[in-house]
Parts: sequence; C-alpha cells; structure tokens
Amino acid sequence: MGMFSFVTNRTLPDKAGKEDAGHVKAFVKTGSTTLEGEYTCPDCGSSGKINQAFRRPLVIKCGGCGESLRLPRLKDSIKAEKRKGL
Ligand SMILES: [Zn+2]
Repeated sequence: MGMFSFVTNRTLPDKAGKEDAGHVKAFVKTGSTTLEGEYTCPDCGSSGKINQAFRRPLVIKCGGCGESLRLPRLKDSIKAEKRKGL
C-alpha cells in the first residue's frame, strides 16, 4: 500500500487561458478522507493551504478572492486538448 490514496500536482489556467497561472499540489493520505496541500489562485495570485473533505469533482475555494478553483480530471483535460487540436 502506498502512503497516499490520491495525489495531484497541477497547474490551473486563468480566465484568459494562461495555462500555468495557478497551481494546486494536494494529497489524501491512505485511510484518510481529508485533502491536504496548497494552492496558488490563477485569478488573484494568492496562495493558501488546502485542508478539506475529499470529494469529486475537486473544488478548492480561494481564500483570497473567493473564487472556486475547479480541477478537471486529467482525462477530461486531455480530451479537451484533443478537441482543440493540440
Ligand atoms: Zn483567488
């Protein structure tokens, strides 16, 4: 068994489409239901800690601007890129 049941380390695009404007690095320890980690908001640039119940879809609320940061599943963003022809 690994130490983590879930790990993500992702950039988040801003509304203008800048792909690496924000960042989320988070994990759930094996046997835990709490998502822990840190984020940088793509919209306001503030950073903060993540400590919340883990559920899908992943939504992290920015403590700076109150924006909900949505993390699409990696599979979905790959599909979206294919649609865009990337
Ligand atoms: Zn923000």
